[in-house]
Amino acid sequence: MSAPRNIVHYVSGQAWEGTTGAFQPVLNPSTGKEQAQVALANKADVDHVIAETAEAQRAWGAANPQKRIRVIMRWIQLIHENMDELARTLSLEHGKTFPDAKGDIQRGVDVLEFSLGAPHQLKGEYSTNVGAGIDTYSMRQPLGVVAGITPFNFPAMIPLWKAGPALAAGNGFVLKPSERDPSVPVRLAELFIEAGGPEGVFNVVHGGKDAVDAILNSDTIKAVGFVGSTPIAQYIYKRCAATGKRAQCFGGAKNHAIVLPDADIEATADTIIGAAFGSAGERCMALSVVVPVGRDTADRLAEAIARKTPDLNVGHCLDPKADFGPLVTADARDRVNRLIGEGIEAGADLVIDGRSLDMSNQEFEGEPLADGFFAGPSFFDNVTRDMSIYTEEIFGPVLCMVRAETLEEAISLPDEHIYGNGVAIFTSNGGAARDFAEKVQVGMVGINVPIPVPIAYHTFGGWKASGFGDLNQHGPDSFRFYTKTKTVTTKWPDESHAGPQFTMPVMN
Ligand code: NAD
Repeated sequence: MSAPRNIVHYVSGQAWEGTTGAFQPVLNPSTGKEQAQVALANKADVDHVIAETAEAQRAWGAANPQKRIRVIMRWIQLIHENMDELARTLSLEHGKTFPDAKGDIQRGVDVLEFSLGAPHQLKGEYSTNVGAGIDTYSMRQPLGVVAGITPFNFPAMIPLWKAGPALAAGNGFVLKPSERDPSVPVRLAELFIEAGGPEGVFNVVHGGKDAVDAILNSDTIKAVGFVGSTPIAQYIYKRCAATGKRAQCFGGAKNHAIVLPDADIEATADTIIGAAFGSAGERCMALSVVVPVGRDTADRLAEAIARKTPDLNVGHCLDPKADFGPLVTADARDRVNRLIGEGIEAGADLVIDGRSLDMSNQEFEGEPLADGFFAGPSFFDNVTRDMSIYTEEIFGPVLCMVRAETLEEAISLPDEHIYGNGVAIFTSNGGAARDFAEKVQVGMVGINVPIPVPIAYHTFGGWKASGFGDLNQHGPDSFRFYTKTKTVTTKWPDESHAGPQFTMPVMN
C-alpha cells in the first residue's frame, strides 16, 4: 500500500512543510480510509507565513486595482479549466457529491466575479467647497495583511468569499482552512499564482487551535474573517476585539421553513427534502426545521415528506446516483445519532429513522462503503421547543417538524431561536409573505426559496448567534470590511491667511 500523500502549507508560491513535523490524517468520508496527512503549524510557522505575506503585500497594495483584477480574471479562468479536478478532490475529502462540489466552487467563483468590480468599489467620495477654498475627499485603502479562518463544509466557496474581495482590495491574505478538507484551498492558492498573482500575496497555512491563536495574537494581522461553529466564532470575535483587529465571525444555524395552508404541499415537500438533506444537512443554510401552520397542513406535509424521503439515495460521493454522501467524520455521524436518540427520549415521533441505513454490503467501484460515515435521512414529527433536536444545530440529515396553530406562533419560533441565519416561508399569499419578511428576526429570508443564500453582489450574513461583527460577507460590505477609509481635507494657499485661529472651525 502506498504511503498517504502529504498536504503541506503553501507559502510564497512554494509548498512548505513547516517546522513542527506534526501531521493529522485527512480521511475519505465515503470509505473511512485515510487518504492524506495534513501538516499542522505552530506559532513560529504561522509568524513566518504572516511575515512573507506582509512583505509581498506592499507592492500588491500599491498597485493599480485594475492590475489586481486582471489577475483575478485569469484566476477565474483557471478555476473553470480545473473545475473537474477541483470538484473531485473536494468531493473525496468532504463527502458531498460531485455536482454539489461543483456548486461549492461556482458560488465561490461568483464572488471572484463580483470582486472584479474592485476599481469601482474602492472609489472614494469627493465634496467641493466644504469651506472657503476647501475640498474634502475620501479614499479606501487596504488594511495590510488579513486572515480567513474557514470551516470544512464549503472548502472552496468560503475561502474564495474571503480571498476575492480581500485580494482585490489590495490586502495580503493568509488562509487557515479546515484541517478536514485542506487540498482544494491549497490548489486555489496555487492557481492564483499561476494566474499571475505575486508570490506571497496569498498563502495557506494549516493547523488547529495553535495556528488560529497565532493568527489572533499577531500584530501584523489587521482583520479576521471567520466562518464555523458559534462557540469558536465567539472566541475569535472576543480575541480580535482584545487585540484590536477587525472581525466578522459567522456561526451556526437552525433554519426554519414555515408552510402556510395555501402552499402547494407536493412541491413544498420536494423543496424542503432537498434543502434539509442535500449535502447530508452539512450546510449552514440547510432547512432543519419545518413549521406547518394548522393541523391539516401539518398532516398533509408530514405524509408527503414521509412518503418521499425513503426514496433518497445515500452513497459514495462520486456515485452519480447518490442524492447525498456521508458525513465528514465518524464523530459527526455519532453526534447526529446521539441527538436522534435524545429526540426519541424527549418524546418526538421519529417517523423515518436514518440510523437504520445499512451500508455493510455496499461498494462503489470496488471500494467497500461499510466504514464510511453515512447517515440516512431522518424525519421527526411533533418536535417541541424544549428538545435538544430543536435547540441545537444537528448539522446532519435530520428534519424536525414543529407544528404551529397560527402564523404568529410559527413566526415566534425563528424569532425566539438563538440562531438567526436563514428562514423560508412557503405560501402563495403575497401579503403574508411580505409581512413575514419585514418582521422576522433572521438575516436571510426566502419566500418560496428554500436556501436563500444571497447572490454575490448582495451580502451574506446571519443574525443573533449566527453572526458577530458589523459587516457581512461578499457584496459591497466585503470591500468595506477589507479596507479602511481615509478622509482628506485640502486647501491651497491663497490670500485669505488670517493668522492663528483658536476656535473650532465651523461653517456659518
Ligand atoms: P469549526 O468551528 O469546528 O471550525 C471552523 C474553523 O475553526 C476551522 O478552520 C477550525 O480549524 C478552527 N477551529 C476549530 N476549533 C478551534 C478552536 N478550539 N480554536 C480555534 N480554532 C478552531 O466548524 P466546522 O465544523 O468546520 O464547520 C461547521 C460549522 O460552521 C457549523 O456550525 C456551520 O453552521 C458553520 N457554518 C456557518 C456558516 C455561516 O455563514 N454562518 C457557513 C458555513 C458553516
